[in-house]
Amino acid sequence: MSENLNVLLSTQYIIEQALTKLGYSAAMVDLLKEPMRVLTVRIPIRMDDDTVKVFTGYRAQHNDAVGPTKGGVRFHPDVNEDEVKALSIWMSLKCGIVDLPYGGGKGGIICDPRQMSFRELERLSRGYVRAISQLVGPSKDIPAPDVMTNSQIMAWMMDEYSRIREFDSPGFITGKPIVLGGSHGRETATAKGVTIMIDQALKKRNIPLQGARVVIQGFGNAGSYLAKFMHDAGAKVIGISDVYGGLYRPEGLDIDDLLDRRDSFGTVTKLFKDTMTNKELLEQECDILVPAAIENQITEENAARIRAPIIVEAANGPTTLEATRILTERGVLLVPDVLASAGGVVVSYFEWVQNNQGYYWTEAEVHARLQEMMEKGFENVYNVHMTRNVDMRLAAYMVGVRKMAEAARFRGWV
Ligand code: GLU
Repeated sequence: MSENLNVLLSTQYIIEQALTKLGYSAAMVDLLKEPMRVLTVRIPIRMDDDTVKVFTGYRAQHNDAVGPTKGGVRFHPDVNEDEVKALSIWMSLKCGIVDLPYGGGKGGIICDPRQMSFRELERLSRGYVRAISQLVGPSKDIPAPDVMTNSQIMAWMMDEYSRIREFDSPGFITGKPIVLGGSHGRETATAKGVTIMIDQALKKRNIPLQGARVVIQGFGNAGSYLAKFMHDAGAKVIGISDVYGGLYRPEGLDIDDLLDRRDSFGTVTKLFKDTMTNKELLEQECDILVPAAIENQITEENAARIRAPIIVEAANGPTTLEATRILTERGVLLVPDVLASAGGVVVSYFEWVQNNQGYYWTEAEVHARLQEMMEKGFENVYNVHMTRNVDMRLAAYMVGVRKMAEAARFRGWV
């Protein structure tokens, strides 16, 4: 029988394990295994050909015991309620691991932005904000970019929210363009965070960064910047991929050329003849494998064939539970998504702080603080992994859920 790939069920399973190991009650598990609030909205949009199309969107708020909820909005044809719920729980864990004053939230719209015009995307972004506006706000729930959404979409959403509220509200959303109160370093933050995690993991395995061979699955926001950072730091990026396939060159890829030729959705491999599938790419020999695309890429079916000694998850949910077990048993050092991809929300937090204060930081200040918070997160998770003898994913959940559970206890909820 093949394993269950429902990301919500597997998340709930580890949440329960983590809370039980920490000594919390069944009631706490019951509270934290589901978002406290999920809104489903229907958004009618007039398309460019004058027909009306009705889109379905969601916003899930996992838990606000620690503070307002925070997390991105994805535009993707595969968005569904269970996925949005799981993603909101993962956001809570990320915020807990890097110690931000937030709970987790997440949103999504079922759509394919690659098939939509600029104006249709604007109408959809504004329509979504109108539909969820009662539930969100700078001290309630703060959206951000996620899969196939970007700073332009954040700008439209911020503008729509500001019009509804009748005052300028930059702190309503993060990941904005710099001129609208965005933060330096937000665009590259997820990738920067992943490079910091790669550094930490390489140190634990005594592998030098110079010449380390890196394979990156995905060439979107996280994957493309990461390829550039790794290449510039002296590592050898030997594989990248997009939805259409993978490029693998053991002698190293010309990353600057690929970046020049990629389109705004991160696709570039179509321009090449000599490609392989995403599945094949994951199984190539390398020192560091970075899944930076979508969920359920490393499963019980291919885990035994993964040859990298270090896996750093830049995407949300790329490795299943069973695959995590197989890889851990084989001695692979796995830096889980809720830790490895937290760089985005860390700099989103910096952006929100800057908006609230109306005082803006330099890129160097952002990076120094990001580095400090990510390193601390890694150390905490790695220590729990070693001292409690649990895999890195369970360790990350234990670190990530603790603050939220304590906050809920102090508030007298459980
Ligand atoms: N969507 C990103 C994530 O999954 C960033 C969220 C944020 O910046 O709030 O972590």
